[in-house]
Amino acid sequence: MEQPKYHYIYGPVSSWRLGKSLGIDPVSSAQKTCTFDCVYCQVGPTEFFPSERELFVSTEDLVDELRSLPEVEVDCITFAGNGEPTLAKNLGEMIRAVKIFRKEKVAVITNASLIERADVQEDLLLADLVEVKLDASSSESLRHVNRPTPEVQLEGIVNGIAAFRKIYKGYLTLQVMFVASNKACAEAIAKIALQIGPDEIELNTPLRACAVRPLSPEELAGVTEIFRKICGDKIKVRSVYEAKREKSRPFCQESTDRRRGKEIG
Ligand code: SF4
Repeated sequence: MEQPKYHYIYGPVSSWRLGKSLGIDPVSSAQKTCTFDCVYCQVGPTEFFPSERELFVSTEDLVDELRSLPEVEVDCITFAGNGEPTLAKNLGEMIRAVKIFRKEKVAVITNASLIERADVQEDLLLADLVEVKLDASSSESLRHVNRPTPEVQLEGIVNGIAAFRKIYKGYLTLQVMFVASNKACAEAIAKIALQIGPDEIELNTPLRACAVRPLSPEELAGVTEIFRKICGDKIKVRSVYEAKREKSRPFCQESTDRRRGKEIG
């Protein structure tokens, strides 16, 4: 039987971090749209680097599609997708709309490139969980691993996350994606993380098909040890290799693969 087509919604996907999660892509552009072009990106090279927040999908269209879904139990509704979700200038309006008729927690996964902006922080404050990315400890490592647009600077990212931490009452997770080229930054990133004080740190390495190799379990265990030593019992530190990963069956495989890429093996 042919699967129904969804334009803005994907999954449910099983996340080691968020449980069973229904994905919403508030950008949903045919081109990958992001402020970064990470070396490990699972959805390929960035094709469109907007310099401002834009309206990509109307909130009404998203709500119509969400209402058309078959019933499904999920742990979380997550704004992420084929690019950077905070580029959608109606992100806050979308979160509010989803919360009116869905009971699940709402999460946003962001690369934090725009988190210094007051309007972005206002939108993120509406989410129950926010996951921010920090893969670099210097401008050089940021340029090397995340390859951002020129206006995005590490200082803005770190200051923005720290400022957001002070006002955010929800659950803040700092996610660090490690590949060979930023492994040596582990200690410096852990020290920045300790200063910021998220609720949790998640240490990841790309386990989906992409242009670079993932760290081995032994390499990531070494990085995890560094983080646990620096953060002590102040911040919970989790690593992808220690997590239990479950399978889930998406409504629409095509819509899901476009946002998630393919698992290795
Ligand atoms: S991994 Fe995320 S932040 Fe990096 S290029 Fe891909 S979509 Fe953008």
